[in-house]
Amino acid sequence: MKFCRFNETRIGVVRGALVHDVTACLDALPALRYPYPLGDALITNLDTLRPLMEKLADETKGVAIDSVQLFSPVANPTKIIATPSNYSAHAAEARADPEIAVYQGERARSIQEQGLFLKSASSLVGAAQGVTPRFPDRRTDHEVELAAVFGTITAGISEEDALSCVAGYAIGLDMSVRGKEDRSYRKSADSYSVLGPWIVTPDELGDPEVLDFWLRVNGEMRQESNTGLMLVKLRRQIAWASSVYTIYPGDILMTGTCQGVGPVKPGDEMKAWIQGIGEMDVRLNDYV
Ligand code: MN
Repeated sequence: MKFCRFNETRIGVVRGALVHDVTACLDALPALRYPYPLGDALITNLDTLRPLMEKLADETKGVAIDSVQLFSPVANPTKIIATPSNYSAHAAEARADPEIAVYQGERARSIQEQGLFLKSASSLVGAAQGVTPRFPDRRTDHEVELAAVFGTITAGISEEDALSCVAGYAIGLDMSVRGKEDRSYRKSADSYSVLGPWIVTPDELGDPEVLDFWLRVNGEMRQESNTGLMLVKLRRQIAWASSVYTIYPGDILMTGTCQGVGPVKPGDEMKAWIQGIGEMDVRLNDYV
């Protein structure tokens, strides 16, 4: 199943080029009382709700996916976990580019030395909101990444079992202003995390570790790779993350970007694609 959030408050099941409004499924969510549990209520209950979502999609006439505004398919993650320098060709270009290398210092560090990093949950937007760059005099780059969305509370999971806690996959854009500050500062501005266009459940996607993906800007190919080229594989990233952070439903893992990162500016149109997920169009808004 592919499911999305659209027009801010609507939940949709995506079939082909159509989105079927299944928002009525939210009536089946358990009532919550303060203090609310951490995480995203829809993702928490996805397994229970899925038959109802499929049924409602069968019964509802779809509308063209192009006619709706796609929001982040996760409304309330507690955190976005991200892996740095996870493709060797990107690590090499980062070392060779003074504006990127400035952060790493003189010595190129391994992923293990750098550690995972966190992006703020409030930086998250969907495709329709677009990215609003914050630093007019500096370089904001695109980074296209496979994103895993977690479905269950998970701590200390093994590499072998790691994929069992994934609710689905989406395209992630880890937007980054280049500079010397910590990653959490440079990558957590409002709209610097894009998730979408929808979430594809694991049964529909197949093996997430062999997916082609690319990103174009204004039609020009910028990034192109395959998730099989990750230095730290997806299962290991999840086991690693869960050994440090308890993972909550709706939490997102951005798995690192490939070579070809580069600057974008207001008016640019990014188009990202991941095999088995689909295409996502994201515009660069004016500076704030
Ligand atoms: Mn990244």
